[in-house]
Amino acid sequence: MDAPLTLIGSGMAALGLVRQLRARDTRRPITLITADSGDDYSKPLLSTGFAKRLPPERLAARSALEVAEQLGVVMRPHTRVTAIDREAGRLAIGAETLPYGELVIATGAAPRVPFAIPEAAAERVFTINDLDDYRAFHSALEALGRPARVAIIGAGLVGCEFANDLAAGGHAVSLVAPETTPLPRLLPEPLGWALGEAFAAAGIDLHLGRQLAGLDAEGSRVAVRLEDDPSLEADLVLVATGLAPRTALAAEAGLTVSEAGISVDRTLQTSQPGVYALGDVACVAGVNAMYVQPLQASAKALSATLAGSPTEVSYGAWPILVKTPLLPCVALPPTRPVTRWRIEGEGMDLAALAEAEDGRLIGFALTGACVRRKVELARAAPALLV
Ligand code: FAD
Repeated sequence: MDAPLTLIGSGMAALGLVRQLRARDTRRPITLITADSGDDYSKPLLSTGFAKRLPPERLAARSALEVAEQLGVVMRPHTRVTAIDREAGRLAIGAETLPYGELVIATGAAPRVPFAIPEAAAERVFTINDLDDYRAFHSALEALGRPARVAIIGAGLVGCEFANDLAAGGHAVSLVAPETTPLPRLLPEPLGWALGEAFAAAGIDLHLGRQLAGLDAEGSRVAVRLEDDPSLEADLVLVATGLAPRTALAAEAGLTVSEAGISVDRTLQTSQPGVYALGDVACVAGVNAMYVQPLQASAKALSATLAGSPTEVSYGAWPILVKTPLLPCVALPPTRPVTRWRIEGEGMDLAALAEAEDGRLIGFALTGACVRRKVELARAAPALLV
């Protein structure tokens, strides 16, 4: 029998691809190998669960077993692929090897933690990048049995969403980051200040423009040491300092990778024919967008390619919707150098239009009531990958 189409990973990219494939072909043998529980969940909902006090089981739409049954695939949860042998067409899982037919790498991105976590504090310091991480943080909150003091390190999308969500869930949140405004990569400063104000008004304790000097365990608490500032005391620390594509397997197998991900062409093929990558791990013709719409488009195109019709993916001008109900924000980060940010609106309702040298709109950011302009502006902005 032919070796199965094999996917490494069971996140939104891998499961999205299998769903698309099954719509075309219900019989093809497919194997999914995944290091996590294999439960089907929506990762964007992780940063909305604490406000609603959702237990982890409420975030999982289906267990790994149900996914396997529903999609007619072989699923191997809690199984880490340790190497790809391209010449033999086999995967290594420790000492075991498995043949693959075509291979899809959908290993996502891992939290990047740029400082040391002392062992004595490790059980109180978390990252939340999948459902298993959410389970661990949720248990730590439950174990306290009272509202927690949570220090969040990092004021990017993930840090800001969790800050808003945990504060809405009744926890005392401190937000620490070296940048002077929240969401520095998505919002120009005036809009960042507006979000900072909305956070502060809701009781979030902002320590922006502050460098982290280190973390220390102090009894059942963690002292968050800041340069030029007194320490903060927290029950729990959440580190949200960015994500790095998990390229190690591909790099060790000799596939072309960069810091931005596994390099693939617009048919999602890596430097090796028959081996593909999509989702947060893939850098598609120079673009790694790391959000859902691009991976859905990639899954659709790759399913057509794997079904025998080579298909190139394209991405539209798809804005990122930041889940900070304290002040809704939407951004389409510019893909080219910005000559001028034109700021419109007042108070918390702001629109920032990124203009190129020739005056053309190349991106935008919106807060408050101005988020309603997203459709009109996206129509005028250039696509991410034409
Ligand atoms: P992942 O979901 O990370 O899946 C990777 C899979 O690979 C996992 O199953 C893992 O176990 C497996 N794996 C890794 N290494 C191995 C190995 N060696 N062997 C076997 N398996 C392995 N995007 C939006 O568009 N809108 C949002 O509102 C939004 N909110 C977000 C909120 C949070 C808190 C986060 C963290 C992200 C958010 N995103 C959002 C981004 C979006 O969720 C991701 O782009 C998307 O989920 C990535 O899916 P993926 O399948 O590529 O990766």
